[in-house]
Amino acid sequence: MALNLEKSAAAFAEAKQYIPGGVNSPVRSFRNVGGTPPFITKAKGSRIYDIDGNEYIDYIGSWGPMIVGHANDEVVAALKEAVDRGTSYGAPTLLETELAKLINQIMPSMELIRMVNSGTEATMSALRLARGYTGRDKIVKFEGCYHGHHDSLLVKAGSGAATFGVPDSPGVPSSIANNTLTIPYNDIDAAEKIFSEVGSEIAAVIIEPVAGNMGLVLPRQGYLRKLREITTKYGALLIFDEVMCGFRAALGGAQAAYGITPDLTCLGKIIGGGLPVGAYGGRRDIMEQISPAGPIYQAGTLSGNPLAMTAGIATMKIISREPEYKQPDYSRRLTIKTKQLTTGMEEMVKKAGLKLQFHQAGSMFGLFFNENEVYDYATSAQSDQEAYKIYFHSMLEQGIYLAPSQFETAFMSGAHTEEDIQKTIVASEVAFAKVAAW
Ligand code: PMP
Repeated sequence: MALNLEKSAAAFAEAKQYIPGGVNSPVRSFRNVGGTPPFITKAKGSRIYDIDGNEYIDYIGSWGPMIVGHANDEVVAALKEAVDRGTSYGAPTLLETELAKLINQIMPSMELIRMVNSGTEATMSALRLARGYTGRDKIVKFEGCYHGHHDSLLVKAGSGAATFGVPDSPGVPSSIANNTLTIPYNDIDAAEKIFSEVGSEIAAVIIEPVAGNMGLVLPRQGYLRKLREITTKYGALLIFDEVMCGFRAALGGAQAAYGITPDLTCLGKIIGGGLPVGAYGGRRDIMEQISPAGPIYQAGTLSGNPLAMTAGIATMKIISREPEYKQPDYSRRLTIKTKQLTTGMEEMVKKAGLKLQFHQAGSMFGLFFNENEVYDYATSAQSDQEAYKIYFHSMLEQGIYLAPSQFETAFMSGAHTEEDIQKTIVASEVAFAKVAAW
């Protein structure tokens, strides 16, 4: 049963006339899995709809933000009310403090918070701050981690950069890339070695404490604690990029799940409720170096935009609401649903006689067509890309919308129902059988 994507194919052809590759962010193009990306016209709850009239159960969730589901009634009502009051003022509002306070209550390590407009901006600004604060230029990142597309961090990057085989982009000056030192994820010896060599020149270590951009890769027991110790010893800052895993690995993010306090945290996605927002924040004494409190400059015409703040506040209120008596909280409920789904899918994998790696962190999940343990970029990259393509297209044909790359993560939302989960498990039986027969 092939999908009818005739209108999407025509729309894609026209888009290519005006937009590079027809898309405004590379992974959307389906280039590495082949085929036509469905052009989306609306979304509600767990479902997303294309212009050809196809309906899908969506596990991309706009790549993470839609944790309460698409067009959530509370978020939409708040936005409708807000839009009548104007779309941007370029002046302070009560909303910015309200969102910062909500974030601070959930992530107390973020004592001061600066809003920006994307995850890229958040990590870019956090690095400038780390460099300005420490007076050092070098930073350490991990192979396969993705932190956005600015020069310092587009080095051995994950996500689309890994998918399309350009982890180091042309156009990034070597003078900048040379200050970015990369080491393998989950390898403590590599971290110790680099610090023993140039530790006094390192401004910061930036890490996805739960990595979602080389597929979903979890930190090994004690790994984040060790990074905390090394950075403290050498006077470098520890930056947690929780743009993806924030509010998903646990409500309080990976820092709560693993009990590690970073110096700075970067956020995005969920805190904008589907509108463009990022944020960085952390220790008061460090954040007070940011202009106008301090000398390190960073600014934004649309930063703290009232519509984006409104959607973010509504979303954050839903996920942090006190649960009913004896019920698990929002984040725990998502974790349970995610476990239910991955357990069901794992049974189908066994039934098909395959051996795969399933990973889960709260409401994030992923699988690797790989018989061996996946714990860093090198092991992730050994996964079978062809098998993933077969699985991906079979799921799509059956109305299950997953990321068109193994180097991404899937997301559960509060809107996914028991029926959605069962349908997905049933579809996976067909998809895994197809892979096994291949
Ligand atoms: N950091 C992480 C961990 C991300 O997953 C992403 C995007 N997927 C970014 C930063 C960049 O965010 P944005 O795409 O909003 O610039």
